[in-house]
Amino acid sequence: MSSATSAQTASAPSGSSAYDKLTVLLRENEILKSVANTLSWDQETMMPEQGAALRADQLTLLSGMNHDRNTDPRLGDLLGEAENDSAIADDPIAQANLREVRRDYDLATKLPKSLVEELTRCSSMGMRAWKDARAKNDFAKFLPWLEKTFELNRRKAECLGVPEGGELYDALMDTFEPGMTAKRTEEIFGPLREFTVPLVQKVMDAKAAGKAPSVDPAVRELPIDKQIEFTTRITEAMGFDYDAGRMDASTHPFCQGMGPGDCRITNRYRANGWCDALSSGTHEAGHGMYEQGLPKGERFGQPLAESVSLGIHESQSRMWENQVGRSQAFWKWALPVARGIFGDTALEGIGVESIFKASNLVEPNFIRVESDEVTYNLHIMLRFELERAMIKGNLACKDLPGVWNERIKNDLGLTVTEDRIGCLQDIHWSMGAVGYFATYTFGNLYSAQFWEAMGKDIPNREQQVESGDFSSILGWVREHIHQHGRRFSAGELCQRATGKPLSSEPLMRYLEAKVHAVYGV
Ligand code: ZN
Repeated sequence: MSSATSAQTASAPSGSSAYDKLTVLLRENEILKSVANTLSWDQETMMPEQGAALRADQLTLLSGMNHDRNTDPRLGDLLGEAENDSAIADDPIAQANLREVRRDYDLATKLPKSLVEELTRCSSMGMRAWKDARAKNDFAKFLPWLEKTFELNRRKAECLGVPEGGELYDALMDTFEPGMTAKRTEEIFGPLREFTVPLVQKVMDAKAAGKAPSVDPAVRELPIDKQIEFTTRITEAMGFDYDAGRMDASTHPFCQGMGPGDCRITNRYRANGWCDALSSGTHEAGHGMYEQGLPKGERFGQPLAESVSLGIHESQSRMWENQVGRSQAFWKWALPVARGIFGDTALEGIGVESIFKASNLVEPNFIRVESDEVTYNLHIMLRFELERAMIKGNLACKDLPGVWNERIKNDLGLTVTEDRIGCLQDIHWSMGAVGYFATYTFGNLYSAQFWEAMGKDIPNREQQVESGDFSSILGWVREHIHQHGRRFSAGELCQRATGKPLSSEPLMRYLEAKVHAVYGV
């Protein structure tokens, strides 16, 4: 505790106003949260299997402490006092912080403790049931937990409150993507869906006509230690700061920003998956660069040092993974880098054109996380629509598999024969996360829209990427997105950075150009 206290006092404000005291308190809360995050990271990367029970106890204790601190009436009192302090009424930074602290505090205190506990219990039991159901391909085993999850989430939404003219689902979505609503999502997703379904068909026709490029360059077998070296080299060049972060291996890649100077990302490797390792590595490094670009130094613990929404966070990972890392310009630079690491013989026969095409193939897949840039969003729209209907009560949980499978058949031409590759594939609902899925597609939409706007500000961006210089790109997102934390809402941030509200147009233009470059259609 003594080191945490000294870290906190070292850069905490020295004043004694309610606002100053509030920022000290928030900083302490964030330090405690970072302890839990460090333990979670360790759990996924280093912990021996038999440490699981102790780790669960440690994390449960910490999460209870966190909850107590986040709902502490003293925090509420200081917040109320600071909101009425005329001395900071004209300070835009303080006012934005207070607005967001109020939001967090209200969200944390609106839910009765009994409901929070019930949700926690349901997710821990539900996750176990889901794992079992998925392994045995037995939806009926998970159904009672799914029903319970949606019932509890409806109660949660009622407690959080429905925005005027909105629906229950909005209250849930708002916890992941503040300010977003189901109606607005529908407006944005609608045109994207109408565009995507025929585009997939066009690609399938090209494939049937024998016009599909080969996947071989992307699945060449290469040593895993070299894959790690390659991915590290690329992400370092992009701007992930390895003096303030590290990349380790885990089953599911993730990014965990601990706090100032410490951001952990993980990646996974397979002998024939060097392009997969590259895309998940650049993806997580994108999340990591956002974390590293937030003003955590002086504002650690304050909302203005936090990411604004899951959609914006995802836009930062998608941009490096897709707009940068799947472009032809990128491969012009990265292929010679790869040759230097893997050796000319190992990459024999692979050229810029062939590796660019191989890493951009469109292939309908049952599994969301294995899907390409084009079909991925169809998976998300399906989940968004079905969970919205289940919250509304228009779709009974027991009817989920049938509706799911029908839609996959219609959209992707695939016949789901087992629920484990259908509606049992994702962990989200078992964890109680309802209203989350759409943020993945928001990430794709935001990244395409930011990328277009950035292109106007950096006219020679392509040449820079070809020479492995990513500094202007990182500088642009630092300036327009990272430095603001939660100062502006995601929607405002988009408007300020691109001059327009979020729209599906830039993503559609981007995907159309990509498919044309790869398939010539
Ligand atoms: Zn991500």
